[in-house]
Amino acid sequence: MIVRRKTRQIKIGGVALGGDSPILVQSMTNTDTQDVAATVGQIERLTAAGCEIVRVAVPDTPAAEAIREIQDKIAIPLIADIHFDSRLAVVAMEHGADGIRINPGNLGGEAKIARVVAAAKLHKVPIRVGVNSGSIEKDLLKSYGYPTPDNTDALIESALRNVRLLEKQGFYEMKISIKSADVLTTVQGYRKLSTVTDYPLHLGVTEAGGLIAGTVKSSVALGILLSEGIGDTFRISLTRDPVEEVRVGFELLRSLKIRERGPELISCPTCGRTRIDLFGLAEEVERFVQTMKSPLKVAVMGCPVNGPGEAKQADIGVAGGKGVGIIFKKGEIWKKVKEEELMEVFMTELKKMEEEGQKERNSAKRSE
Ligand code: SF4
Repeated sequence: MIVRRKTRQIKIGGVALGGDSPILVQSMTNTDTQDVAATVGQIERLTAAGCEIVRVAVPDTPAAEAIREIQDKIAIPLIADIHFDSRLAVVAMEHGADGIRINPGNLGGEAKIARVVAAAKLHKVPIRVGVNSGSIEKDLLKSYGYPTPDNTDALIESALRNVRLLEKQGFYEMKISIKSADVLTTVQGYRKLSTVTDYPLHLGVTEAGGLIAGTVKSSVALGILLSEGIGDTFRISLTRDPVEEVRVGFELLRSLKIRERGPELISCPTCGRTRIDLFGLAEEVERFVQTMKSPLKVAVMGCPVNGPGEAKQADIGVAGGKGVGIIFKKGEIWKKVKEEELMEVFMTELKKMEEEGQKERNSAKRSE
């Protein structure tokens, strides 16, 4: 069983993070923040996929000012990602940002940090101190060396130095990230950080890569940390549609039995025993499953050797035979269908189960 490390709790918008709140999945838009329609559209897609906090890049004043309009149209907390410019941080908060991500040390001195902190206190906005291996202060690199799995001191010290800059201003509504592109450095860095602070931790591997490399690197690093109870929120960084980041995030939480969202799809890799077009069926099912909310277990298996055994564990499953598919529901054979009709029959039944699940959820909500 995973024992979660105790952290203090902060609020981002209306959402609690850290402490005993769920581990939150977040993502970042890749639209031009000034393009409100495109940014809102992407945030809506992210929200539908389960994203719980979204970050937008704020490189200039129009982007900071666009936050108000974006904020009015979305349903999840929005964090403004700011580098170097303290004025942008203030404008973003004045325009409704629920949180900001900065490196206080980059803002240009104590007076500027004080201005940002004053705005954060006024607007009740928490700050993420976000340190990356690539942005560590030169003096720390000189003293401690570039971060490696065996020596993450520069990363930790940079984060703590930035934290202290805010604490000096009487500000404590913080979460911390120390990102590296290296998996082992990320793991060791967060392990160490978690022993020296109780601020909530935002996990991530930076510049992780495309869908496959990024998923593997992030899942290895974050999987190790989350399994050790470290981490209160995370982003899976992928060079991809950010919706994929959210999907990978929830699969990661599901695989560790931390949180579940929507259905679980089990499908076999296929082998020489497969006698039906399983890829086509699995793809179609996977596409639909991503839109489902019911926590069903759905199985798509290629053959009657292992297939029915696995599929029987599922709420609905199919095992392929020679030119036929055997559909199981809740462990019982429900129907044997010709291959030509299999896709339609299976998808119709799956959609029906999702609709029934939706009705049950609605009536449970009404009786609450
Ligand atoms: S379920 Fe059947 S087809 Fe799929 S991998 Fe296993 S043995 Fe092969």
